[in-house]
Amino acid sequence: MQWHRFLQARPRAYLGRGDGSRRALALTFDDGPGRATPALLDALRELQVSASFFCTGAAASQHPRLIEQLLREGHEVGNHSQTHADARGFGARDWFAREVAPAAVSLREAGLSENPRLFRPAYGEIDEAQFDVLAEAGYAVVGWSVDPRDWLEPDAPGYVSCVVESVLARIHPGAIVLLHDGDDEQGRSREGIVKIVRQLVPALRGQGYEFVRVSEFLPAG
Ligand SMILES: [Zn+2]
Repeated sequence: MQWHRFLQARPRAYLGRGDGSRRALALTFDDGPGRATPALLDALRELQVSASFFCTGAAASQHPRLIEQLLREGHEVGNHSQTHADARGFGARDWFAREVAPAAVSLREAGLSENPRLFRPAYGEIDEAQFDVLAEAGYAVVGWSVDPRDWLEPDAPGYVSCVVESVLARIHPGAIVLLHDGDDEQGRSREGIVKIVRQLVPALRGQGYEFVRVSEFLPAG
């Protein structure tokens, strides 16, 4: 999300990467929960990894038990808008009322005990006025620093190793890795994510990385 320059001027409410002094990284999963999420949760549990999930309100309403399960298993949940609409062209308050507030309600109905504190914009699209309305409502906006484009060509041969290699080539201390577990826009399950995580986690651990929830990268205070 480097192309949104205004974000760099707001270090307290925008998180694009974590503190680089510690060999830690955050895996983030967007657009879910979806059909791939149960197997992903199994993998994360076996691998003893806590992660962050940016869920849409629509998917949360469809799969409330998965929201409950991922909270119970120590993951955190952020707001990824109600319908995954592209925010461009919407007035800030109108957009907040249509996309942000309803998603918070859906997430609370699905089991979050308080309003989500983290927001990730659909497609990474957000303007300055929208950002300010989010910050005013107490949200931190979370971007990413490693994007292996796991949504691209999931049926291509070598897809899993290609995504894994892409993360390994770009990883750095304080990385926020962008991945997806929700069904794609054609309604297909993103089942490749499970294999990706099962290969990626041991490889990163082998490089001395620990896995944190992305909120642990927020500045204190
Ligand atoms: Zn998304």
